[in-house]
Amino acid sequence: MLIVIALVIILAVVLIALISVVIRYQMQQRDIMRNEWIRRDVARRRRIRISDKNEVFERDNYTCQICGISRDFLDDLCPGLGDYLLLEADHIRSVSQGGTGRDVDNLQCLCWRCNRKKGGTRTNEEVRDMIDYGIDYLQGDEE
Ligand SMILES: [Zn+2]
Repeated sequence: MLIVIALVIILAVVLIALISVVIRYQMQQRDIMRNEWIRRDVARRRRIRISDKNEVFERDNYTCQICGISRDFLDDLCPGLGDYLLLEADHIRSVSQGGTGRDVDNLQCLCWRCNRKKGGTRTNEEVRDMIDYGIDYLQGDEE
């Protein structure tokens, strides 16, 4: 009788251990699937179509929407210099904050320097307050 009780207890312990292993495995799989889904979602929202990028550059007249440097400005200084300006399409509302590159209204033309400063968390105004290069000169040129 005692042996039967001991066997039942051992069986129960083994069963509980087995169930907990299975549950843990399923939770890990779910986490892996969820992380993969998040990674794909971020990659999908970060993507900007070439045609949209060109549309944004045209709309913003190849001008950085933060510091105001433009191809025209550089070409006026020296013809052909504008080609050296590295412009990028920036997600106004960053991908990390739920923004998407599919929405042209969420994209803006930024120069490389301003885009690096903006990162994923700052607004245009915050970057503009940080900038100490050429901003007065560029703004003065527009007047
Ligand atoms: Zn800029």
